[in-house]
Formats: sequence, C-alpha cells, structure tokens
Amino acid sequence: MKLKINNRFSTELPADTDETNDTRQVKNACFSYVTPRIPSKPTLIHFSEEVAAMLGISTEETKSAEFTNVFSGKEILPDSRPYSMSYAGHQFGNWAGQLGDGRAIILAEIERQKQVYTLQLKGAGMTPYSRRADGLAVLRSSIREHLCSEAMFHLGVPTTRSLSLILTGDQVLRDVMYDGNPAYEKGAVVCRVAPSFIRFGNFELFSSQNDLKTLKTLADFTIKYHFPEIKENTPTSYVDFFQAVANKTREMIVHWQRVGFVHGVMNTDNMSILGLTIDYGPYGWLEDYNPNWTPNTTDRENRRYRFGNQAEIALWNLYQLANALYPLIKEAAPLESILQVFQAQYESDYLNMMRNKLGLSKAEEQDNQLIHILTENLQLTETDMTIFFRKLSLIKKEDAVEDAFELVKESFYKIEEVAEKTEDSWMYWFTQYLNRLQQESSSDTDRKVAMDKVNPKYVLRNYMSQLAIEAAEKEDYSLIEELHLLLKNPYQEQDEYQKWFAKRPDWAREKIGSSMLSCSS
Ligand code: AMP
Ligand code: MG
Ligand code: MG
Repeated sequence: MKLKINNRFSTELPADTDETNDTRQVKNACFSYVTPRIPSKPTLIHFSEEVAAMLGISTEETKSAEFTNVFSGKEILPDSRPYSMSYAGHQFGNWAGQLGDGRAIILAEIERQKQVYTLQLKGAGMTPYSRRADGLAVLRSSIREHLCSEAMFHLGVPTTRSLSLILTGDQVLRDVMYDGNPAYEKGAVVCRVAPSFIRFGNFELFSSQNDLKTLKTLADFTIKYHFPEIKENTPTSYVDFFQAVANKTREMIVHWQRVGFVHGVMNTDNMSILGLTIDYGPYGWLEDYNPNWTPNTTDRENRRYRFGNQAEIALWNLYQLANALYPLIKEAAPLESILQVFQAQYESDYLNMMRNKLGLSKAEEQDNQLIHILTENLQLTETDMTIFFRKLSLIKKEDAVEDAFELVKESFYKIEEVAEKTEDSWMYWFTQYLNRLQQESSSDTDRKVAMDKVNPKYVLRNYMSQLAIEAAEKEDYSLIEELHLLLKNPYQEQDEYQKWFAKRPDWAREKIGSSMLSCSS
C-alpha cells in the first residue's frame, strides 16, 4: 500500500510532552502520541470497497496481510506516528472535564487527489484518555458502527465513513447489564475515515483550561483547513467560523429527522465541528414514529436525546461551543444573534424537508398545519416512518380519500382495530393532503420520483443489525455483506431485497428493548 502521508494535524498543533499510553490529565496539547495495542490474531471480516478506492487502496491490496495489519494496529504505516486527540465535553448536560480519544487512535492523515483523510482506529487499546476503561471495542458495536456509517453516507447524511472491520482475536470483558454478570466478547477494530475528527469538545477543553494560546491555534488550524471560505485573522473570522459550524450542525440534524435517525448520545464530545454524524454508539432508527423514543438505555429517565429533541440539543451544544470560543471573540452579541436565529432557521429547514417528504414543491401557508396533523396521526397508529413515506408516493392526485388511506395502512403497527376516531383523523388528513396536491403542478409520476429520492426505502433497522451481529458471532459474515450492499442504494427498489422493506418483526420489539444499548460498548 502506498499512501501519501500528510500529518498536518500532528505537525502543526502542539503535542503532549509525555509519550506513553498512561492515563493522565493533559495540558497545552491537542494530542498525545500513542502506540496501538498489538492484536493477537487480526482477521479482516469486512471492508468498504468504496472507501478503500477513495483512499487509493486497490481491491488487491485489501487482501494483503499488510492491510489487515495496518488497520488493526499491528503495523504502523511508514512515516507516520499514531496519536489520540485531547478533548473535553458536556455529557448529558453536565460538564465532564477532560475526556479525549479513550479508544480511538489516529493512524495518519493521508492525502489523495488534493483531499486529506484522517484514518482512525476505534478499539485499538488504551490511550492517555482511557480513564477507567480498556480502550477496546467489541464485535457487536463495531458492526453497528461499520454498517451505519456507510448506510448514512449513502442516505446522503453527512457522516464519518468506515473502511474496515477487523476481529482482533482477543477477548474483551464487558458487563452484560441484564443479568449483571461479566461476559467475554470478541474484540474488534473499525477504521473510521473523515476529513477531521475535531469535535466541539476540543475547543471546550482549552477554554476550560484557560489556555487561550492553544484554543486560538486550534481554531486557526480548523478554519485554515476545514473552512477555507472563511478569511483567517480578520475581526470576524471566529464569528464566521461559529456561524458555519451552526449551519452545518443544523443541516445534519434536518437529515437525521428526515431519515429517522436517533443518535442517542449527543454529548458535546460527540459533535463534529464539521457537522458530520460521529460516534455511532447506542444510536437507533425510528420504526414506529415516536418523537419520545431514544435507543439509549442510560437515557431512559430524561430522554434528553430523544428523536424529537435533537434540534434543541444541537442548539444547547452550540451554546457550549459559543462559550468556548468566546475568549477569542470577546463579544457576546454576535454569538448570541447566531444562536437566537438557529431555532427559526431550523424550523424553516425542517418545514422544507417535510414538504419534500410529502412531495410538495410549492410553499403554502397551510403546510405547517398539514405536517403537524400528520405527525400526530403517525403516532396514533404507531406508524412505521420509512414504510409510510415510501407508500405515500404511490398516491395519485385524483385518488379517493379511502383509497389513499388504504395504501399506507400496512405501515401501522397498531392495526387490530383502528379506532373510529383515529380513522376519522386519518381521513381528515388525507382529505387535506389530496386537496393540497391539487395546488401542485407536477404530475403523479414526477412527484413519486422526487419523493422517492428523499424517502429511503431501506434503512438499517435496529433488528437488521441485530441479525447481522448474531450471525457474525457464529462466524457467518454474509449478512454484514448483504446489508452493506443493500444500504448502498437505499432509495432504489432493489426487488431482490424486498424482505428488508417490512415492518419490524414482533420478536424484535422485545429483543432490542432488552438488549441494552448503552454508551460504552
Ligand atoms: P462515548 O460516550 O462513547 O462518546 O465516550 C465518552 C468518552 O469515553 C470518550 O472520551 C471515549 O473515548 C471514552 N470511552 C468510551 N468507551 C471507552 C473504552 N472502552 N475505553 C476507553 N475509553 C472509552
Ligand atoms: Mg465519543
Ligand atoms: Mg462512543
């Protein structure tokens, strides 16, 4: 493998003076050099051909021992020095102090066709930031990250990517929460790829340490390489930077709401400064449309990170970033005005996104109300979000209300008897919707084409990952490949995969509910 190394992060930013992997508090440094743990028997179980190609790695090369060795941490790329980043964060609304890459190690930044990609291993052992944990990742959570980051990319959602999924050959001790007994699981390493893994928390760290020099160095670096449209060293550079981050964050959240993705741990250390979906932990996909749903079992009480609260949390997180950048700006007003318009801008973006999902190309006064009633109805019948919107595009302008309703009925989880009141409520909505379609000039066919581009047919339903995990535990990796292929074209019909266009099976409701998705697995 010939990768062109470009270590701009580690050469231009201050390094920790200590070069051991020992757990510690780090000062005045953006990162610490570390040595990945040597896995005992690395075995490649899956990789993304597309990501490999993007990095200039040929299919032939992915079959080499070198590939498996490098992307499991066994072998270091020539001319590179792995490191972990320092950052802090607010977790579940509370200041958590220094966190950092506790189980992530950056192998190198590499350059290809004028793009720079950061290659990061997740689960390659302890770092100075591991605190009381082991720096390792288990197979199940690695499969979830590998499959979901690629699925999100193909859905058109800004995200980090995943190159490879490798078994380390080592056992990892995890507490299985439902019986309280410790259990060993297979260890794995994923290689994530992104232009940068800088988070809100990187800025919060230096601000909290009152280390304005490093804060400024990091902000200047981030602007220079990741926001080239912003002029450096002008009086408004940092305000412009904050505005750009707010915009990117808002766009990302609108996408999450569009596809029904719930991140599950929107702590500020899990917020990418580039507005990428990052850190796939206890995430989940909405099945029955429920704004209160969160997949994260450690967030059951407050439901802070529930589906319907993601925009509000993004804003809360932006407040923390604003506080962190304030010492560079020394004026609250411009930051406050960006934060103040966020909500209104989000609502407007959200409205447009929902219009697109409904196939409405014009903006009409009543759309807000139409969308409001729809989301109420979706909850009444516990409606599968993905199936509903996909079926909706089959409706024709001239359809009778009853026929339109009939078309979407199979997306309801609550079916036995749709109560009369509920049915009335749906009839009312379809009457309004069909009327509204009369105001659209596009044909039924054109509307369907447009709707099918924003309403995915296939998403990574929670039970699908679960099936892939269960098979992989038995060394059958075929389902990982099948889901990976399926989710490369989430908006296409793919007749051979119709079985994945179905409501969550009954067994999955219980099973996923008790399988406990918590933060650190
Ligand atoms: P998360 O909630 O997964 O984003 O993790 C929060 C913090 O805990 C980050 O600093 C992670 O690097 C760290 N962390 C999570 N899991 C582990 C682990 N198994 N070993 C070491 N650090 C971890
Ligand atoms: Mg994290
Ligand atoms: Mg995590």
